[in-house]
Amino acid sequence: MPGSEPDPQRMEAVVALCKRRGFIFPSAEIYGGFRSTYDYGPLGVQMLRNVKEAWWRSMVQLRDDIVGLDAAILGPPDIWQASGHLATFTDPLVDCRSCKQRWRADHLEPSEDGTVRCPSCASTDLTEPRDFNLMFKTHTGPVADEGSVAYLRPETAQGMFVNFKNVLQTTRKKPPFGIAQVGKSFRNEITPGNYVFRTREFEQMELEFFVPPAHAPKWFDHWVEERFRWYVELGIPEDQLRIRPHDPDELSHYSVATSDVEFLFPFGWGELEGVANRTDFDLKAHAEASGESLDYFDQAANERYVPHVIEPAAGATRSMMAFLVAAYDQDEVGGEVRTVLRLHPRLAPYKVAVLPLSKKDTLTPLAREVLGLVQRRYICDYDDTQSIGKRYRRQDEVGTPFCVTVDFDSLDDGQVTVRERDSAQQVRLPIKDLIDHLAARLDL
Ligand code: ATP
Repeated sequence: MPGSEPDPQRMEAVVALCKRRGFIFPSAEIYGGFRSTYDYGPLGVQMLRNVKEAWWRSMVQLRDDIVGLDAAILGPPDIWQASGHLATFTDPLVDCRSCKQRWRADHLEPSEDGTVRCPSCASTDLTEPRDFNLMFKTHTGPVADEGSVAYLRPETAQGMFVNFKNVLQTTRKKPPFGIAQVGKSFRNEITPGNYVFRTREFEQMELEFFVPPAHAPKWFDHWVEERFRWYVELGIPEDQLRIRPHDPDELSHYSVATSDVEFLFPFGWGELEGVANRTDFDLKAHAEASGESLDYFDQAANERYVPHVIEPAAGATRSMMAFLVAAYDQDEVGGEVRTVLRLHPRLAPYKVAVLPLSKKDTLTPLAREVLGLVQRRYICDYDDTQSIGKRYRRQDEVGTPFCVTVDFDSLDDGQVTVRERDSAQQVRLPIKDLIDHLAARLDL
């Protein structure tokens, strides 16, 4: 388990496992890779879906005060003008005149005597910071002029604000209620890095929760607590998580209070999610810029107001990395060291692996029958290559909670062996009881 010191070896081990087992590949690898961009392989796409599904389940499925949305990624400049992104979504950029590398000024630590040096070549010959806008600009249609400018969204949030009225009118929801969205966002980060922690293309999971203004502080506290609990429930130990309130000078232009949920990554504490009290900034800004009223009439109180917004904004790709890092472990089973991903079953790419003891034709039909039975309910792997010990190790390494082994006795007694990942303990049970056994442990 990680301590509070940076642990580059743990990071390297997780990155190597992700590559070797098909979780995450460097993008465009056959062309030498493409600048901190990554592709999610067969196991990675499954796990990322599980992370997003776990979020959707807790935010949308298990509540009746939150609805979903899937807004466009491309947007007109008007949205980003009103939201403040065109003017203020910038990072301070400095160039090293010596080695030509670029850095975020707010990420450079001055030495004790106050000197700021280039982290790469240690030169002090750095340019003054200048603002660099992080938005990806493009053009729609064949003519690339000012009238065709569009932007890739740098956050999903604005989709919820510009659809506030549509959702209000079509769902009969009233504050307090929320709109949730999961999807890709794009930021032209100056210094992407630390694997998928900071990339230029990434996925977010954001909730905009609209409340009567007087209730905003109470809901802010509620969401900070709820969101912290979500990571703990999905298996991140509490001592590897912390809540960090922002100092007043750190707050974004729209926020009166923000607290980050942070995780102890192998390179130090890093943000998983920011919970912000955005007040009525966004709805007012879009109402003013669009000319549409974005307020709410509370009939019971006979009062019209612009709701305030509490926003828990999480990263799907970044939190997947945290879940992987927290789950990575090595222990000893049967006198041998094994690598095991102790992933929460909800997040594990495969829930069950079906393993015929041998490749012999006599076992295949029953093993396939068991696979068909389990596959209808859970995503499964089927593996009939190499020794059973090696196959168990392979499944441990990718976090599969259960292996079901079909052997020659199974043909006579209709029973299979179920092995649990963390304890490596095995039980033998009738195939007719298999689904109930798995469901009691997987349908948490
Ligand atoms: P940071 O300070 O790390 O740049 P931020 O405060 O700008 O992040 P938000 O705008 O609050 O981030 O975005 C919400 C969440 O989206 C973050 O907590 C993070 O999980 C995720 N996220 C933001 N930028 C990136 C990125 N470049 N790569 C991966 N995930 C990101």
